[in-house]
Amino acid sequence: MEYSTLANGYKIGKIGLGTYLIPKEKTIETVVAAIKAGYRHIDTAQAYENEEEIGYAIAQCISEGIVKREDLFITSKISPHNKIGYQEAIDAINSSLKKMDLDYIDLYLIHWPNVAPGAMWKKLNAETWRGFEECYEKGLVKNLGVSNFMIHHLEELFKTAKIKPVVNQLHLSPIWQQKEVVNWCNNHNIQCVAWSPLVRFSDWAGGFLWNENYSKCEDWTAETMNELSQKYKRSKAQIALRWSVQKGLIPLAKSIHPERIKENINIFDFEISEEDMEKLDSLNARPSNPDATPDSIYNSWSMAIALNRQQYMTKNKIYLLGIPLIKWKRINNNKSKIYLFGLIPLLKIKKKNNNKKTKYYLFNIFPLLKTVKEHEGKNVYSLFNIIKIAKSITTTQTIQNNDFLPDYCKKESIKEKRENIQNLNNRVFNRFYAYEKFYDNKNISKIHKMFLALKLCLTNKVPIASLDVHITTACTLKCKACSHKIPYYKTENHHVMSIDEFKHELDIILKNVDCIYNLLLLGGEPLLHKELDKFIQYANSKKQVKRIVIVTNGTLLPSKNVIKALQNSSKTLIFISSYEKNKSLKNYKPKEICELCENNKIRYVLAHNNSWWRQPEINLYNSYSNQEIENNFFKCDFKYCTLLSGGKIYPCAYAKYINDETQGKYNKDFIDLHTKISPKNFKNFFKCSSYKVCECCDMTHYGELIFPAVQLREDLHEQNFAYRK
Ligand code: NDP
Repeated sequence: MEYSTLANGYKIGKIGLGTYLIPKEKTIETVVAAIKAGYRHIDTAQAYENEEEIGYAIAQCISEGIVKREDLFITSKISPHNKIGYQEAIDAINSSLKKMDLDYIDLYLIHWPNVAPGAMWKKLNAETWRGFEECYEKGLVKNLGVSNFMIHHLEELFKTAKIKPVVNQLHLSPIWQQKEVVNWCNNHNIQCVAWSPLVRFSDWAGGFLWNENYSKCEDWTAETMNELSQKYKRSKAQIALRWSVQKGLIPLAKSIHPERIKENINIFDFEISEEDMEKLDSLNARPSNPDATPDSIYNSWSMAIALNRQQYMTKNKIYLLGIPLIKWKRINNNKSKIYLFGLIPLLKIKKKNNNKKTKYYLFNIFPLLKTVKEHEGKNVYSLFNIIKIAKSITTTQTIQNNDFLPDYCKKESIKEKRENIQNLNNRVFNRFYAYEKFYDNKNISKIHKMFLALKLCLTNKVPIASLDVHITTACTLKCKACSHKIPYYKTENHHVMSIDEFKHELDIILKNVDCIYNLLLLGGEPLLHKELDKFIQYANSKKQVKRIVIVTNGTLLPSKNVIKALQNSSKTLIFISSYEKNKSLKNYKPKEICELCENNKIRYVLAHNNSWWRQPEINLYNSYSNQEIENNFFKCDFKYCTLLSGGKIYPCAYAKYINDETQGKYNKDFIDLHTKISPKNFKNFFKCSSYKVCECCDMTHYGELIFPAVQLREDLHEQNFAYRK
């Protein structure tokens, strides 16, 4: 391991192990592997929630005689998720010491510069620093530093700091160089440490260096990385890390793979030529315009954190926000394209109006991406392109161009609606998550919830996360535990929706809500509907419908018309239920459907849920207390399965069934689209924390586990109706 020397003479390893997002159960082995591979510098933070594991790993390595404590350089940071200040700083350091079971920490940092709204950060950073200094004097920490501090944050801190920071940990890599602040730090003897030097791709703006699909496309970043990797016979990771070292930065590389851990530290036996360093320098995607410093993003990040804590939402300002990466794979002309929507669903643009009040405009990421595409002609977007273009649009024209802004940005005042938001969190968003699981997207975070909640605030209309639509109750199967109870419908309650009904009802809904994220056409078996193609076409024509899912039981092949409609819609996919376990199903042919979809370039998902089924107990004579009903609802798997059936919107399919069975006893539990309604009806409906029907439907006590898709025999029919008597 080679070392650098900090301003105060303290030695620090020239590369560190990053530990953010290492799965908890892998932390000890990863850190031990890194120390064995020669790493002597390890980076953690309160916010990573892994200090204890890191402490164990250190203790193990010391007890095995691999290192002594003094050989190691351990960094931690005060959490940006909690309040910061003088006492909080002392508590944080003591807590990190205790968790890692150390006598001292080599470096302690303020993780984010502006975790508080407004100008409060100035005072809080100064106070936090005072706490740090006290711990430094006691020898509990050997060095003090900051992270993500821009020049003005540093200048502010310098006004009160007795001990100057020796490190600024920043987001730095060839594609994000932050030259101004790095120069400033160099001039002030502050060592810059690079986080995400490999451009982490899992949930950030990644894909630049690694993503297979990305590097296949003609992009100068990928080209340069590939070229240099071949020239120096080193991996792209090693090239990126070596660039950091030659720039005088100290990269923190995270990996959970022993071979990569070794690869990443093996960068001290080659040198990138000056000319090639210039090539790498030219990858910097950020303009050196002070207006475009990452500060604005960090501001929104901090605000997102604050929002996450549900602490912050003012009347006239909205600060936004990050989302995790969403990968959207689309099969198109034999090429699969990946769309990366990194970091910002809405971009905050600040503008002073005549009253000298700051207004915040929010750019919806989707129209913005469209513009980026027009500018760049690319199908794979980088966060940096997006920001660059958003900025240029702001400064040139678009702030007044209302067409470009989504409707909800045009509103000026935002009412506080915390209660609604809280309830909506419970009610709507988890459904959204549930569905995201089908798309293998594990990166949905709380911040996305906030995004939806904020949309509600801005539009005053509910974004519906998911809406099931019974387009027909006819089905090719008669599943005993059908989650829609269809085999138990009385003849008079069966229904086939006409296309006119669908159009009329969808129009009413869209008039009263902000959008529908997932519109599920199902039944029954939707492929039995002769006009399914028209349903798809109509839903597809609605901008407010973001995704259309045809949920089929895998027993029928889509017709030619349906295939055509699916091909013509970029937001539709077929979701095929998985009943592989049940070999007795005669017509079940998921593979054929998958093949047909592949051949016709239609997006599809074959469910991987092949487990046992469960269903709630329904008993019309239950008498639960309100508290019990709320509990029931809270634990219910179906609470997010809002249903449109027969012109009414129900909280779930069971609610619809119970309503039919009880002939309207619970008629406050649905929205009747054929009466006069307003957005308020929808908001009230979605904010409920339980429904009256939950009185007779108990999801907390599951009955027996049920083999999937067991078919109902006529003779058993009555047994299932026991509660009807
Ligand atoms: P990195 O730039 O270290 O990238 C990590 C990703 O790269 C992982 O997905 C890893 O996958 C992959 N990877 C690692 N080595 C290789 C390789 N040789 N070839 C291909 N892929 C590789 O991102 P981080 O964001 O984790 O940043 C590093 C550290 O910086 C963090 O762990 C944390 O300690 C610190 N940090 C500090 C922040 C701050 O605000 N101060 C913010 C963010 C990070 P795999 O693990 O599967 O190998």
